[in-house]
Amino acid sequence: MTVFGCRSCDAALTVPVSRVALPVHADQKYGNGPGSLAPALEPGTFAVNPLPSGSPWRRWAELEAGEAEALGWYAPRFRISTGPVGRVLLAPGDVRGAVIDPALVGDSACCGLDGGEPNMVCVTCGTPVAIRIDDCGLRQAIWLDPLTTRVIEDGPGPHPVLGWADLIDQRPGIPPSEPDGGWHPMWAATAASALAHLLAASGGDPILIPDHQVAEVFRPTLDRLVGPVGTGPGRTLVLAGPGLPDADVDFALIPEHPQTGELWPVAPPVKPVPLAWDAWRHLAFHQAPKPGGRSRSRRRPCRHCSRATGSSPTAKSSSAFWPDCPRSGSHGCVPSTNEAVPTTTRSTSSDRLTRRDSALLPAGSLSSATTGAQGAALLGHVR
Ligand SMILES: [Zn+2]
Ligand SMILES: [Zn+2]
Repeated sequence: MTVFGCRSCDAALTVPVSRVALPVHADQKYGNGPGSLAPALEPGTFAVNPLPSGSPWRRWAELEAGEAEALGWYAPRFRISTGPVGRVLLAPGDVRGAVIDPALVGDSACCGLDGGEPNMVCVTCGTPVAIRIDDCGLRQAIWLDPLTTRVIEDGPGPHPVLGWADLIDQRPGIPPSEPDGGWHPMWAATAASALAHLLAASGGDPILIPDHQVAEVFRPTLDRLVGPVGTGPGRTLVLAGPGLPDADVDFALIPEHPQTGELWPVAPPVKPVPLAWDAWRHLAFHQAPKPGGRSRSRRRPCRHCSRATGSSPTAKSSSAFWPDCPRSGSHGCVPSTNEAVPTTTRSTSSDRLTRRDSALLPAGSLSSATTGAQGAALLGHVR
């Protein structure tokens, strides 16, 4: 549990919050409807952006070769930040002791605050400490300035990190479309990021997608960018992760842990394509109801070891584990969440992306924090 405060006067500026992974939609701009998007984070949580943010800015045209990649950008844009790293993202309701200063609010936004520079000040001492964002098409957010704020209390929080099996139980996923038929904004961000990773990993080769729900998400854009799969040998993309069989294909669409940012491990030569947990969970375990029929989950993970199963538990089973779990009985599936997933081979998203970068992307670092905005940027670049 962490509390942030003002560097100048030590006044607390947040309620106690728990760290989560920086979501791929953290800096999202989406659509042109009235009002802002939902907050980028759940209440009671915070995330840290490891990339530079804010002033000073550098124009793309003035950058030396490799400089943009070193700062986390892979597609041209008018300017990029070379400011401080470590900006802290919060849900607006979790901030205390800071107010918007009208004198600091710029006039570049449409109908709200776009937050190019700090526009909130510490109530106690008047130091600019944060950026409030609520303009149309932007995520509701407050970003703490790392130069004027700091951690004033730190310790273990009351929200334990969930194992993969518990995530399946407690975070059921989000459907890709909204009631009006448009994309859910989170889906737009994570699908763009996944497509960028997939294109970089495949080198633009045609890709087979056997799962029709996965194909519905990615096929239209892939067909437009690299063309449909022909008669020649194709490379294949499948879902992999907790509750699913190990992938034995070219590309595995894997989940990112929403709290830790860990990626579900896959063994080389399978290349991982990360997707936000809430999107992955929906693709992996949701099946649209058949017309006139009953809706049912198409796959059910073993409750305790998360491994794939092909059928439901028998009526006599106690739900301790699924009877055809490959790890059940003598194979070691026991009702213990500690056994949910192997831990020794997990890698963090930053580890994995760092290792992957040299093979998949232009030289330079690419953290999980960059993949959302730059996923979309990469797509734009490929087009
Ligand atoms: Zn507006
Ligand atoms: Zn202060």
